[in-house]
Amino acid sequence: MTFNKLGLSPEVLQAISEAGYTKPTPIQQQAIPFVLMGRDVLGCAQTGTGKTASFALPMIDILASGRVKARMPRSLILTPTRELAIQISENFELYGKYNKLSMALLIGGVSFDDQLSKLDRGVDILIATPGRLLDHFERGGLLLNNIKILVIDEADRMMDMGFIPDVEKIVALLSPIRMTLFFSATMPKEIRRLADKFLINPKEITVTPSTTTAETVAQFLAIVEGIPRIKREALRQIIKTENVENAIIFCNRKRDADILAKSLCKYKFRAAALHGNMSQPARLETLENFKTGNTQFLVASDVAARGLDIPKVSHVFNFDVPTHAEDYVHRIGRTGRAGREGRAFTISTPDDSKYLDAVYNFIGKSINIIQITGLNEPNMSSSIKTRIAKNKKSLNKKLDTQRKIKKEKKDTVHENRKSTLGEKEKNKPVIGMGKHTPAFLLRPVALDGTFKKRGN
Ligand code: AMP
Repeated sequence: MTFNKLGLSPEVLQAISEAGYTKPTPIQQQAIPFVLMGRDVLGCAQTGTGKTASFALPMIDILASGRVKARMPRSLILTPTRELAIQISENFELYGKYNKLSMALLIGGVSFDDQLSKLDRGVDILIATPGRLLDHFERGGLLLNNIKILVIDEADRMMDMGFIPDVEKIVALLSPIRMTLFFSATMPKEIRRLADKFLINPKEITVTPSTTTAETVAQFLAIVEGIPRIKREALRQIIKTENVENAIIFCNRKRDADILAKSLCKYKFRAAALHGNMSQPARLETLENFKTGNTQFLVASDVAARGLDIPKVSHVFNFDVPTHAEDYVHRIGRTGRAGREGRAFTISTPDDSKYLDAVYNFIGKSINIIQITGLNEPNMSSSIKTRIAKNKKSLNKKLDTQRKIKKEKKDTVHENRKSTLGEKEKNKPVIGMGKHTPAFLLRPVALDGTFKKRGN
């Protein structure tokens, strides 16, 4: 399947070809034709599946015809975080470079006046976080009754962050004559209720969430004592033995991200923290510094880092084992992207055994355990080692059973094939060339399939 088959305009096709995309991702293949038809879409997909382009590309084509009016945006994309909003706007800029569409971002931490003057000039694409959008609406800077396309992105995260009442308020302000595209990584009951309320006869698309870690990521686990100072020392040791180009270091708590970033700086590593308690300009600056290489180590919390599109990361470090197993896959998925090699290290303590178990069960494979020189092995009384060994055993058992089933299947197929050949067929002599092989078959063949002259 190529992009040409999806019904997109030459302008958009040109832009995506320049972006280096050759093949649409599964969600793009499934969603784009329906969005172009004007159907509502309910997409169960997470970041990394190409879902942004699945709505942005057809939206650009739909919005290409029509005119903007002051303060009356023509489409609205609601996102839970400022970073995601910025990322989406970057995607629109990339894909819409051959279309003259106007865009505005309404996110917290940026001056109201700049946003207002953009709205005044009229916008085709409005990307907003719910709170800031309502602020503008309540101040009278914005009318929402001309929105023809509504996108709700990462609905489940909106719920986690307590934004659903705001989202419901916003949707109630829109005209019912619109197209709605609704995306969520998961579909719990509450999200399904919202989807039923907002969408009319949607095309439902589910892209299987990745529970598997990329084969291009080598995974390692270090078990150390549960003392922050020891964990930091372990991290520094690993960094020193690795050839780190740039890395994201994940912490479970924002406070720990701050402490760790400061500590790394003290040891002369170019590190900076990124988490939700920072001001918007500080977050943007940190991200920019990381992208340009000024910062080598980004110490991040999950919420701040989820959805961030940083293409080249050589390493991921889990300073803490994530408390949700699927976060492990998200985190280490930051490295080894697009077939590149990546390395992921997790620092675990005996108290993490419950979470580590969950990770093992989720990913279904074992992680290489490494020893850190100079650090004593922690007291294993909490049986973390036994659990790891048990996990390994049960994984091996699972793999053995899978292999057995595969072999049995193969044997059955073989047997079936054999039995379909009648006895007569089986006993027939094979008619071949006997012991003599003609000389032309022994001549080497060039890569282009032509025969090479003897002696070449
Ligand atoms: P998303 O799931 O929208 O966050 O996209 C994840 C990443 O995939 C982004 O870096 C996109 O630029 C990239 N991407 C999206 N669609 C494609 C495609 N068809 N081919 C290659 N990369 C893509």
